Amino acid sequence: MGSDVIGLALLGSTGSIGRQALEVVRALPGRFRVVGLAAGRNIELLRAQIEEFGPDVAWAAPGLESQVLAGELGSERWQPMDEMAARPDVDVVLVATVGTAGLAPTLTALEAGKAVALANKEVLVVAGSVVRAALDRGGELRPVDSEHSAIWQCLWGEPPEAIDRLTLTASGGALRNLDIEQLDRVTPEEALRHPNWEMGPKVTIDSATLFNKGLEVVEARWLFDIPVDRIDIVLHRESIVHSLVTFVDGSVKAQLGEPDMKLPIQCALTYPERASQRALASLDLAAHGSLNFGEVDDSRFPALGLALEAARREGTYAAALSGADDAAVEHFLAKRCRFTDIGRLLGQTLDAHQSTAEPGLDDLVGAEQWGRRFVDDLVAASMR
Ligand code: MG
Repeated sequence: MGSDVIGLALLGSTGSIGRQALEVVRALPGRFRVVGLAAGRNIELLRAQIEEFGPDVAWAAPGLESQVLAGELGSERWQPMDEMAARPDVDVVLVATVGTAGLAPTLTALEAGKAVALANKEVLVVAGSVVRAALDRGGELRPVDSEHSAIWQCLWGEPPEAIDRLTLTASGGALRNLDIEQLDRVTPEEALRHPNWEMGPKVTIDSATLFNKGLEVVEARWLFDIPVDRIDIVLHRESIVHSLVTFVDGSVKAQLGEPDMKLPIQCALTYPERASQRALASLDLAAHGSLNFGEVDDSRFPALGLALEAARREGTYAAALSGADDAAVEHFLAKRCRFTDIGRLLGQTLDAHQSTAEPGLDDLVGAEQWGRRFVDDLVAASMR
């Protein structure tokens, strides 16, 4: 294998992860063939990517501009994400879309036996049980998020029964040094300034509320098929240790590196090969001097505890909370609610939600939409 050209479908190619994936493609000439590119509404960048990478097929969220681009490309080169994900010349599907848009293409790709490099949180948070069942029938899931990639890399060559616990590291986000009164007055601009990572706005705000870490616990639960009560979180400000696995004999493995999403993206695209890449910053431990660890203070960040509670309850709770958070973050960014309202809105959502036992895909997607509407209504009522 090793030297075979890897056929890629990149869904969400104009987002932060999509753009960094194309940097990896650019840095490893001859290693990949970009078969498909799909984007949301950034038609201008998609046009430039099509020009540079010459994919066989492309797609963009329906709209007047995407219709123009579809016309330019010709209808055979214009394929929806599902079709793109199942093409025989695609080996790896990068799902870097946002919201529930990545759900159907992930399931289609797994059913077609593809490797899915998963960067879209909602896929596992909303529909983890359904994706897990699809995985039992075929396909392969490779995490892209730095924490899950770290755990995945620690587990290469290890049997599942050797795992005792997983530990996710948390940087604490942009607002880790503020007290509750200061958090109340935080602006979107301040919350968007992540100390270590360059990411999209939704995940950066979720890092600031620590809700993101709760979502990562839910994802880890489904990715590695391990109960939530065997997943820990440790505060680690430097984001150098990306996560750890404790084995039954007490041995602990960790994966380290400079905070740069291109490494986990590359791992997911080239697995099982480790491709040599000089463009990635090498880790200089002596320059760092020391690494710090501590406990996460969840009293200032209630969204984390709520996400963990939803994860423990299972059913459709995590799906509802995920939709609610999506709406709450949107309202905060548009300055329709305060930073500390996000946690409050999530708490009200969890209290009000009525879960279904053994939910199917429709129940899960329905719960996500319910959570979104519930928060929209709460915010609209508070502005009246
Ligand atoms: Mg992460």
